[in-house]
Amino acid sequence: MQSTDYKRLRGIPASPGIAIGRAFIYRKETPRISTRRIPAGRVEAEVERFLNSLHQAGEEIRRIQHLVEVEQGSDMAQIFEAQRAMLEDVEVKDQTLKLIRERHFSAEQAFSVTLGQMKRVFEDIENEYLRARLSDVVDIEHQVLVRMAGGELKALHALRANTVVVLHDLLPSEVVQLGRRPVKGIVTDAGGATSHTSIIARSMGLPTIVGAVNGSREIKSGDLVIVDGNEGVVHVRPGQEVLRFYRTQRRRQLRRERDLSTRRELPAVTLDHQDIELMANVDVPNELQLAIDNGARGVGMYRTEFLYMGYRLPSETEQLDCYAHIVEAAAPHPVVIRTIDLGGDKLAHVLNTAPESNPFLGWRGIRICLDTPDLFKTQLRALLRAGTRGEVQILLPMVSSINELRRARAILEEAKYELRAETNSFQEKCKVGVMVEVPSVALMAEQFAPETDFFSLGTNDLTQYTLAVDRGTARVANLYDPYHPAVLKLMKIVADTGKRHHIPVSICGEMAGDPLATILLLGMGIESLSISPGMIPEVKEVVRAVNLVEARKIADHCLDLGTGSKVREFLKDAMQAQIDIPPSWQSWKESR
Ligand code: PEP
Ligand code: MG
Repeated sequence: MQSTDYKRLRGIPASPGIAIGRAFIYRKETPRISTRRIPAGRVEAEVERFLNSLHQAGEEIRRIQHLVEVEQGSDMAQIFEAQRAMLEDVEVKDQTLKLIRERHFSAEQAFSVTLGQMKRVFEDIENEYLRARLSDVVDIEHQVLVRMAGGELKALHALRANTVVVLHDLLPSEVVQLGRRPVKGIVTDAGGATSHTSIIARSMGLPTIVGAVNGSREIKSGDLVIVDGNEGVVHVRPGQEVLRFYRTQRRRQLRRERDLSTRRELPAVTLDHQDIELMANVDVPNELQLAIDNGARGVGMYRTEFLYMGYRLPSETEQLDCYAHIVEAAAPHPVVIRTIDLGGDKLAHVLNTAPESNPFLGWRGIRICLDTPDLFKTQLRALLRAGTRGEVQILLPMVSSINELRRARAILEEAKYELRAETNSFQEKCKVGVMVEVPSVALMAEQFAPETDFFSLGTNDLTQYTLAVDRGTARVANLYDPYHPAVLKLMKIVADTGKRHHIPVSICGEMAGDPLATILLLGMGIESLSISPGMIPEVKEVVRAVNLVEARKIADHCLDLGTGSKVREFLKDAMQAQIDIPPSWQSWKESR
């Protein structure tokens, strides 16, 4: 029986997992902003008050940044670097001082008016990722205003165990504080899956739902809530039946995780003894430990864009530190580091890119690197230097023609030439691979093969470019299908070409971590998969249950089918026949 005031709220799944707990509604106190004019004699004291608060807020952000850096790595700390840069922005300071001195505004009002202009700039940005940076401006405004009011950020200190924090919006500095408290999950009314808050919540493993409109009104403090971070659903005041279901789900999830962890030492070999390489996709350095714990054989793709999302470009030394940390941790296995894939939905405003009507078809990935060779060379130098701590392999994104590969290699040679004159300490022989995410590369694989050291299939983009379906637009999400036979045929061309030329072919798109795809990928001849670390144990289970002779027949049949849904149906049946499907896969299977 459901309780009469049971509610089911939908939101955006921002961080997976299931959390069951009591709600804590966190309403932030908004510091009062006085609009009274300051008497002339008190202006300098007001200036002093503003500068002191700015300084204290800066110190607090520095403290959080240090904490995050120690606990989660320098990529994550970049978020707070960006906030610090905003706080230290000379224009922000000068404009605020001008308003206090010339118009006799209170320090609060002057700072708020100044940041208001900054917020409007962010609000008008069409790009979702950059718009999400608005929360950074709101965060620093809040921190400075609280200090002007003589307060500390005390809220959230009184949380009890098993709490689900519900609030309108969560600022990046607050999510860090939450991760250090006995919080089970987070629900917010606002926000998007690519906001910094969501990124941090994911890396902290806190089940989180954002954009659950009116959540903080519908839910009362003390209510029992279930956060289903896998599906993006919040169950408010659930009855016994729903509660039982989720308790069982959570127990199963835990049991399965425990069960899989006891099998982590087992090799990823098929029934007919073919060794399959399971590597990890790493987006932020703290994912690396999970990858190692789950038995990853190195990193198959490290995305480096995050480093460029701050307020200034990362220096060669900063990059070297970051890459060296990953390379050392993954040794003796190699680390495939992808050069920056900015553009598309990942714009770095340090590059001052002009808005484009089709950003995914515009200035993106290798195109940006080749047009800004100094920026590219700095990254290549850092990569080559990090290669002395283990093996680095370089992966080039968004390549569409062979000339791009040649030009990238020429800049790499220049970087080596420079380094030779300066130091002996760099990796002289470094493999360079091409991402296959534009159909032209798959169709020209034969021509690329003699000039590339490996291919890596980026199925996320390969799907969008093959089917002309934007991967980020909800309206056409039903058309976005990596199982579409057209995508599979392009992948097969690359797998076959790689075999003929004895060049490794791996896959680093999300499809590699989908256990339904494993038989198909192995059957197509792909022997190396780079997977999001949490999915490695699940995929390994399938690998160990696959017979390659059977898998080849299954893949051949799939390539002859007419639609993606037929391919998936066929794969589900084939899997059911071959593999004892664990209960936790049932819901995953049904959701497809
Ligand atoms: C891909 O396109 O499949 C890929 C791995 O790159 P990203 O998702 O970063 O675009
Ligand atoms: Mg891509």
